[in-house]
Amino acid sequence: MQNAYQIAVFPGDGIGPEITAPTVEILQSLADAAPDYALHFAEAPAGAGHYRDTGTALPASSLALARASDAILLSAMGLPDVRYPDGTEITPQIDLRMELSLFAGVRPVTLRPGQPGPLTLPPGKTIDFVLIRESTEGLFFTKGRGEVTNTEARETLRITRDTSEKLFRFAFDLAARRKASGRGKGRVTCVDKANVFRAFAFFRKIFEEEAARHPDLTADHAYVDAMALWMVQRPWDFDVLVTENMFGDILSDLGAGLMGGLGMAPSADIGLDHAVFQPCHGTAPDIAGQGLANPFAMLLSAAMMLDWLGDKHDNDGLRRDGNRLRQAVEQVIAEGAALTRDLGGTAGTRAAADAVARALSLP
Ligand code: NAD
Repeated sequence: MQNAYQIAVFPGDGIGPEITAPTVEILQSLADAAPDYALHFAEAPAGAGHYRDTGTALPASSLALARASDAILLSAMGLPDVRYPDGTEITPQIDLRMELSLFAGVRPVTLRPGQPGPLTLPPGKTIDFVLIRESTEGLFFTKGRGEVTNTEARETLRITRDTSEKLFRFAFDLAARRKASGRGKGRVTCVDKANVFRAFAFFRKIFEEEAARHPDLTADHAYVDAMALWMVQRPWDFDVLVTENMFGDILSDLGAGLMGGLGMAPSADIGLDHAVFQPCHGTAPDIAGQGLANPFAMLLSAAMMLDWLGDKHDNDGLRRDGNRLRQAVEQVIAEGAALTRDLGGTAGTRAAADAVARALSLP
C-alpha cells in the first residue's frame, strides 16, 4: 500500500514495555481504521536489560532498523543498577540522538483542562510553551570522554556553529508555525549562561544571527538560573524556549513538574532525516512491573509522531489521527475517571490506556 510507514519500536526497560504495549495497540487500531495510511511496527531490542543479558546496549541491528524506519517510538531505557565499568549508566536513547543527529529535543509544556498541576494560575492564564533542548552536543558531548584521575575530573562542553544554526532555525520555524496557528505569541527565548561562559556568548551570537532573519518574531534571552525561577513564577509568559543540552535536560523536568509530573510530559528528538518520539520520563524502577505507570506521556509522544509523519509526508490522515489521539488523552484527563496514581487517581496503566481507546471509539 502507498503511504505505509515503518515504525521502529524500542520497548526499553522498567515501565517501558508496560506503556509501549497499549500505545502500539492504539496506534495499530488507528491505522487499521484509516483509509489513508498504514503503519508497520518492528521491535528493536536495546537498553540496560539487553546489556545485562548480551553485553551490548544498542545492537547494530537495532540501530540499523532505526535508521531504515520512517519514525522511532521509544519508551525509556536504563536501570540504576546496570552500569558500564566506568560507573555510568546504559543510555542508548542518548546514543540514538547522537548517531541520528537528532539536534532538536522538543518538549511541549502544556497544562490541559482538568490536569492537576502544582501552580494556581491567575484567571485567564494557561501554560502552553515548548522547550527545545539541543540534544547532540553541549555538555553531553563529553559523554564517555570525561577525564578522571584520583584528584581531578574534567568534562567538556561543546557548542558548534553548524548545530546551533540548525537548532535556532528549527526554534524560529516552530514559533512562526505556532503564531500562524493562533497558538503562540511569536516569541523565541534563548536560555543560556552567556554572562559567564564564552561558549554561551558564542551560542547567543548565533541565536541573534538567526533572530535577525525573523523580524516578525520577538527574540530575547534569559539566563538559565533566572529561567528556572520564571518557569515557576510566570510560565504563561513563554512561547518557545531554546537551550543547550544539559540546561534543557534539567529544565524539561521542571516543565514536567508544571504539568503535574513526568507521566504527562511527551517529547520528540528531531533531526533533518530521523526522529525519535518518547516520554520525558525514565524507566521508573520504583513502580515497574506493577501496572501503575501513567501511559499518557507515551501516548502524547505517539501523537507527536503522527503529527511529524503527517507533516513530513503531507498526509492528512496521519495529522488527523495525531490530533484525535491527543484530544482523546485530553478528554480522559478532563473527565478524571481513569487517572493513574501519579495524577491522584487509582487507575492502572491498562485502564488508563483503555479509556483513551474508548474515547477514540476503537475496538
Ligand atoms: P524516572 O523518570 O524513571 O522516575 C522519576 C519519578 O517519576 C519516579 O518516582 C517514577 O515512579 C515517576 N515516574 C516516571 N515516569 C512515570 C510514569 N509514566 N508514571 C508514573 N510515574 C512515573 O527517573 P529516575 O528515577 O531518575 O531514573 C530511572 C532510570 O531511568 C535510570 O536508570 C535513568 O537513567 C533512566 N532514565 C531514562 C530516560 C530515558 O530513557 N529517556 C530518562 C530519564 C531517566
